[in-house]
Amino acid sequence: MPELTDMQVIRDLAKRHHFTFAKGLGQNFLIDPEVCPAIAHYGIPSRSCGVLEIGTGFGVLTKELAECSEQVVAVELDKRLAPVLRETLADYPHVTVLWQDIMKTDPAELLRAQFGGREVSVCANLPYYITSPILMHLLESEAKFRSITVMVQKEAAERLCARLGTRAAGAVTAAVQLRGTAEQLFDVPRDSFYPAPKVDSAVIRITPYEEPVCTPEELRQALRVVKAGFAQRRKTAMNALSSGLSLDKAAVAAALEACGLSETVRFEQIDLETVIRLGGLLAAEA
Ligand code: SAM
Repeated sequence: MPELTDMQVIRDLAKRHHFTFAKGLGQNFLIDPEVCPAIAHYGIPSRSCGVLEIGTGFGVLTKELAECSEQVVAVELDKRLAPVLRETLADYPHVTVLWQDIMKTDPAELLRAQFGGREVSVCANLPYYITSPILMHLLESEAKFRSITVMVQKEAAERLCARLGTRAAGAVTAAVQLRGTAEQLFDVPRDSFYPAPKVDSAVIRITPYEEPVCTPEELRQALRVVKAGFAQRRKTAMNALSSGLSLDKAAVAAALEACGLSETVRFEQIDLETVIRLGGLLAAEA
């Protein structure tokens, strides 16, 4: 099978299968031959570790993942890619493509149904228009991943790996840190993709904590609070949480006080341990 990073091969595949790139689906395919092996290197610890890919495109990363893992399951929304993938993935019977929207897929259920008890890593060049929602979706789910290694826009990478309490941090930063640690691995310039996007990218890896810092229920509650708190980050935590969670200000003030916080504190100043506690207290009020 010819190289899928070769522009001539990509143009030929697109022409033969009457495929046009859908900008709205974030279809910027990798053409730098060094990037897919690097993602597989950082994302796949051993051949026995399964891989969940999100968004196959023409299969350039899928093939590399299939070279390094005994089982790859890819979720792809655009069914127009089916005839292309039948050709490009013909030599990889251990790859399964599920034609569905990752946002409408329960990751924990997918892991159970597709991988049984196998350990699984996520590896993907994410569609940029929903990078944060996809990562939130994975982090909110009860699915336990070995790691999540993904290409995102550089700005998103900086947000994901930011320190809490700094301006670069956001809801997704807190969500990451409730589940694990994030590291920025390497940068990928815009001309590594076809069509080239307007911005540069970076590959990051999220590694879940071996011992979770909270229960799944506490995580759900903390994430509700995180989303409400960061949605109106310029307001005081009291105002942001009471409007975001539709709670009485008095109830929010009481929860803040129980955590030793003043009514004027801003959400981004609150540490994660306290956010988990606040999540429990405010869930009891809802
Ligand atoms: N992995 C390929 C590569 O690196 O060249 C393609 C990556 S491209 C940035 C993103 C892919 O995600 C596209 O194939 C697009 O159709 C797919 N996609 C977009 N939205 C999706 C969704 N909600 N669920 C699953 N796949 C999606």
